[in-house]
Amino acid sequence: MSKFDYDLFTIGAGSGGVRASRVAAAHGARVAVAEEYRVGGTCVIRGCVPKKMLVYGAHFAEDLEDAKQFGWHIENATFDWISLRDTVLADVDRLNGIYTNTLENHSVEIFHERAVLTGPHDIRLASGRTVTAKHILIATGARPHVPQFEGCEHGITSNEAFHLDVLPKRVLIAGAGYIANEFAGIFHQFGCEVTIINRSDQLLRTYDHSLRDRLLQISVMKGIRFQFHSTFEKIVKQDDGTLLVHSTGNRPAEYDCVMFATGRVPNIEGLGLEAAGVEIDEKGAIRVDDHSRTNVEHIYAVGDVTDRVQLTPVAIREGQAFADTVFGNRPTTVNYDCIPSAVFSHPPLAGVGMTESEARNRLGSIKVYESDFRPMKNVVAGRSERSLYKMVCDAETGRIVGLHMIGPEAPEIMQAAAIAVKAGLTKDDFDATMALHPTMSEELVLMR
Ligand code: NDP
Repeated sequence: MSKFDYDLFTIGAGSGGVRASRVAAAHGARVAVAEEYRVGGTCVIRGCVPKKMLVYGAHFAEDLEDAKQFGWHIENATFDWISLRDTVLADVDRLNGIYTNTLENHSVEIFHERAVLTGPHDIRLASGRTVTAKHILIATGARPHVPQFEGCEHGITSNEAFHLDVLPKRVLIAGAGYIANEFAGIFHQFGCEVTIINRSDQLLRTYDHSLRDRLLQISVMKGIRFQFHSTFEKIVKQDDGTLLVHSTGNRPAEYDCVMFATGRVPNIEGLGLEAAGVEIDEKGAIRVDDHSRTNVEHIYAVGDVTDRVQLTPVAIREGQAFADTVFGNRPTTVNYDCIPSAVFSHPPLAGVGMTESEARNRLGSIKVYESDFRPMKNVVAGRSERSLYKMVCDAETGRIVGLHMIGPEAPEIMQAAAIAVKAGLTKDDFDATMALHPTMSEELVLMR
C-alpha cells in the first residue's frame, strides 16, 4: 500500500494536464487533477477552438460578398454577434463536458478548485483539504501578458473577447503576433474598424518574411490600420465609456475597446513552487529536462508553463510522453523538429521548418522556389488577393528544409505537406508527384 494518497496529482486540466492524467490512469496510476477554472484549458475554453469558430463565422462576410459573382443574390444579409457568440459558448460548454467525461471515464478524480504545493509531495486545495502524491505534474498553462502603464486596466485580452456584449465599433489591438492578427481579421470581417499597434514594425516575427509582408499588404488593402514603433503612454476612460488612447508617435485617439495581445506568460504565481523547491528560469517558466522533469525528481511540468513551444499539440505530446515515461515504463521524449504552425488570419498562413533567412544563416547554400498566384475563386470573385507559397531547400541535397504558405486553406494544406517535410523529402520527390488539378495545393508540385 502506497504511503501517498495518489500516484499522480496534476495541477491544471488543460490540453497537457488532461492528456497526461488520462494516460497515466490508463497505465494503472491513481490520479487526481485540480482545475480552478474549467476543464479543457485555454485551447478549448478561450483559445484555439472558440477562436476558430469565430474565424469561420467571420469568413461569411467575404463569402457573401463574393457570392454575387457566382450568381447568388442574398439581399439584406445581416450579422448578429450575440447569436454567434452564444453558439460558440454553447459549443465550448459541450467540449468542457466531453473533457470532464474523459477524465471521469478513466477514474481520474477531479477537484474543481485551486491547488497549491505546500511541500515536495504535498498539495493544499482551496477547500482546505490537503493531499499527498508520489508524483506531481504542473500543467497550469499561461495567461495573457498585459504591459503595465496608466489606464491599462481599461483594456481587455483574448479571454474577454469571447464574451463581449457588443462588438466595438473601433478596436485597437496591441501586439502583432498570433492573437493580434487573428482577432484583427475576425473583428474586421464583423465590420469593426481595426487598428493594430506594435512596439516594433514586425508582424509574426517567427514566420518567413515573404508571408509576413504579404499578410501586411493584404490586411492594409482590406482596411486594417497599423501603428508601428509605438508604445502606450496612457488610456483614459471618458464619461461616455470610450477610451482615449495616448501612444508615442500618434495623436490621442478614441476607441471603444483596447485588446492586449502582447504575448502570454507562464502561470506560476502562488503555486508554492518555493515550498516544493521547484526552479524557474529567467523568463519565469518552469525549468525542465527532456523528460519534462523539474529539478525535483518526482515533480514534472508540461505545456505553456514550461514555455518551450506554446502550442496545444506540443503540450499534448509532452503530457503523453510524461505519462508513458513515468507510468507506462516506456521512456519517451518529444521531438520538437519540424513543428507545423499556422495563424488563422484573413487569409491564414502556415509554415513548417526553417524560414528562408534561418536556412540561409544555418546552411549557407540554399535554393528557394516560389509560387505567387491568384486562387481561382478569387479571380472569379474579382478579389485581388494573391496567395504565396515558398519552398526552401538545401542546395546540396535538395532536401526541403522549410515550407511556407499564405492563402485560403493554407493550414489545412500545410498539415499534409508537413508530413513530407518531416520525412525529409526533396523537391524532386514533390515534383515526381502528379498535380491534382485544379487545386491550390497543386502549386506545391509545380514550383519553379
Ligand atoms: P506573440 O508572441 O505571437 O506576439 C506577441 C506580440 O506582442 C508581438 O508583436 C510582440 O512584439 C508584442 N509584445 C510582446 N511583449 C510585449 C510588451 N511587453 N509590450 C508590448 N508589446 C509586446 O503572442 P500572442 O499573445 O499573440 O500569442 C501568445 C502565444 O499563443 C503565441 O506565441 C502562440 O504560441 C500561441 N497562439 C497560437 C495560435 C495558433 O497556433 N494559431 C493562436 C494564438 C496564440 P515584438 O514582435 O516586437 O516582440
